[in-house]
Amino acid sequence: MKTIACPICKTPLQVRLAHSRKAKRKKVFIMLVCPVDGRHARLFINDQTYVRQVLDQLEASQKELGGEL
Ligand SMILES: [Zn+2]
Repeated sequence: MKTIACPICKTPLQVRLAHSRKAKRKKVFIMLVCPVDGRHARLFINDQTYVRQVLDQLEASQKELGGEL
């Protein structure tokens, strides 16, 4: 996965997982957020098919990703 730089401070955005609490079915979002200041940039990917694909790749390589909103 390529990194995306924060438009404000140019720090590579951190990839986190965000879980939706409201949805009846459990939804997982991919969140890209600036590690310096979350107000700089916060980007959500919520296409569940795509998210699953990415998650499978991530799980294959590392299992430390996690996080909560
Ligand atoms: Zn930033």
